[in-house]
Amino acid sequence: MQVMRWTLPNAHHNPALHLRSLLRRCARTSSIRPATQLHAAAIVSGLLPASSSDPHFLLNALFHLYSLSSLSHAIHLFNQIPNSHKDSVDYTVLISATNPHHALRLFSQMRSLSLPLDPVSVLCVLTKCSHLGCVKTGLQLHALVVKLGFCGCVRVCNALMDVYVKCGLVGGFRRVFEEMGLKTVVSWTVVLEGVVKWEGLENGRKVFDEMPDRNEVAWTVMIVGYVENGMTREAFELLREMIFGCGFVLNDVSLCSILAACSRSGDVSLGRWVHGYAVKEIGWDVGVMVGTGLVDMYAKCGRIGAALVVFANMPRRNVVAWNAMIGGLAMHGKGKDVVDMFDCMIGEGVRPDALTFLALLSACSHSGMVDLGWKYFNELESIHGINPEMEHYACMVDLLGRAGKMEEAKALIESMPFAPNEVVMGSLLGSCYTHGKVKLGERIMRELVQMDPLNTEYHVLLSNMYALSGKDDKANSLRKVLKKRGIKKVPGTSSMYVGGQLHQFIAGDKSHPQTAGIYMMLDDMIRLLRLGGYVPNTNSQVLFGCSTRDDCSEALEEVEQVLFTHSEKLALAFGLTSTPSGSTIHIFKNLRICQDCHSAMKIASYVYNREIVVRDRYRFHSFKQGSCSCSDYCPNPVNPKPPFSSSPFASFSLFSATPPFISLPFPHFRDSDSYVNDDFEAYL
Ligand SMILES: [Zn+2]
Ligand SMILES: [Zn+2]
Repeated sequence: MQVMRWTLPNAHHNPALHLRSLLRRCARTSSIRPATQLHAAAIVSGLLPASSSDPHFLLNALFHLYSLSSLSHAIHLFNQIPNSHKDSVDYTVLISATNPHHALRLFSQMRSLSLPLDPVSVLCVLTKCSHLGCVKTGLQLHALVVKLGFCGCVRVCNALMDVYVKCGLVGGFRRVFEEMGLKTVVSWTVVLEGVVKWEGLENGRKVFDEMPDRNEVAWTVMIVGYVENGMTREAFELLREMIFGCGFVLNDVSLCSILAACSRSGDVSLGRWVHGYAVKEIGWDVGVMVGTGLVDMYAKCGRIGAALVVFANMPRRNVVAWNAMIGGLAMHGKGKDVVDMFDCMIGEGVRPDALTFLALLSACSHSGMVDLGWKYFNELESIHGINPEMEHYACMVDLLGRAGKMEEAKALIESMPFAPNEVVMGSLLGSCYTHGKVKLGERIMRELVQMDPLNTEYHVLLSNMYALSGKDDKANSLRKVLKKRGIKKVPGTSSMYVGGQLHQFIAGDKSHPQTAGIYMMLDDMIRLLRLGGYVPNTNSQVLFGCSTRDDCSEALEEVEQVLFTHSEKLALAFGLTSTPSGSTIHIFKNLRICQDCHSAMKIASYVYNREIVVRDRYRFHSFKQGSCSCSDYCPNPVNPKPPFSSSPFASFSLFSATPPFISLPFPHFRDSDSYVNDDFEAYL
């Protein structure tokens, strides 16, 4: 780069124009260096800051250069340009580079300045809106598209359908699709994604079969659908047809999408196949993105050892890769390894981000390391310059509450710079429950009901808290309220993959083809477990997290029998009959594992000399020789967001024009229902 040899031009030369031509020549680079150097040169030579009489084109040119390399610099410059000198292109560039909330704010600014809109600017803002999944904004933008007469633009219509898909408005994207004149393969693919997501796999398959033309994204959407529903065989069949029949190659995005689906469903067999495919296609170094996907997949499928091997062999790792590894170790309860790993990360000069600290704090919480948790929490801002967010506070409150330091937890909540949300308060309520603080619990519940009136989990928790502290009358009256409101709970399901097929059980299930064998094994198992010291924990029946708890007060004598047919125990009995002796049994539970099943699993791992790995909604339990890797970590009945629904790549859309922004994960976009924090600049 020759930039620093720039000499002050002669008097007849216009220095500003000269600088602008230099800036334009650098416009193809995404490195920040030439931008900062030219910026400095402009200031040194007195061209910046521009006085009010000077033209502002230098600032505009610099802004465009920064928008390629550093968003924070670009935003800073953008704010310096007077409104009268900003045009549609400037706004569009920033809208496409920034996060969705900021993008929408910019768009409304653009509208209030009456700047002309073209399909590109509308396309950019639609893409951002689909990230947010905000129905209201989507509808407004649809009206705008009609008003501006952009309905004939295929790309705008595709983006509009994508917004409806992300919002779950099936009628919306169907209607746009029907009204479109020209439909490209992308249009079909957006509809396919929507139908798979909102109308089920079968309807999705109909659309897939109807498609006049399919690209790799369409194939991936269909395969991912099968994987997420545990239909491994169908997924394999489609992969075979796609690759060997139609000659497609899986690119990084497809590979990562399938890996993320394996992580969610816990299907390691397909994940392993993808690993093999990637090594064969790409080579041993599969790249940071696929490598990270593999680490995440192995960790979330319960193969933390394999995750560590993949991670150790990655020649390059960015912060997303480290986060996947550290997060994986944390959910396996390996607190000490998390701390070591974090030190390695700092040693290698990788800057941790907000997500790294979430993993660190949750590891501290799971391992009861209160002092270390405080240390990391305090270092967040002071050393790493990251503003603590709601989720960090929730982790700390969980950690303190769990350790019985309720006063400290309360003080922390009071010191928060923003009002606590229901996750933080729910965490505190959970600790009240664990430590029997009924009075404080009552107070928090009242606040929680105001925050989130439709959520009945708190009522359940409080009624259990009353029951455990002997206040049966209060417990019963609360239960009556719940019954009146007709709470519906997600049934507890335990599933496992045996022979490439998903086997699912609910409590008391008798629908499995091998039911007779399973129940015989179950009887035998309970007998052996009792001999090994298992005592049915009838108390846990009333606890939150059990599958059939509703009528327990009315049928106490049946409680034991009900306990024995919990879905986890049925899955375990099935696993014992259908897998080779000595092999590890992997069970996935959609809710939290209950205490009774937890202690039964411990004894079973000893009695049958088997390692049993259970992934529940929040973490892994690895039962070996009579003990669990969680060291009987008492699960918090009201817990922060479950970690398994998210993936390191959740932020990209298969349809976005820009490549996945892998080094900048936006955790806010993972769940559209999660809290929205205005302080998102910290991520950029
Ligand atoms: Zn259970
Ligand atoms: Zn455990």
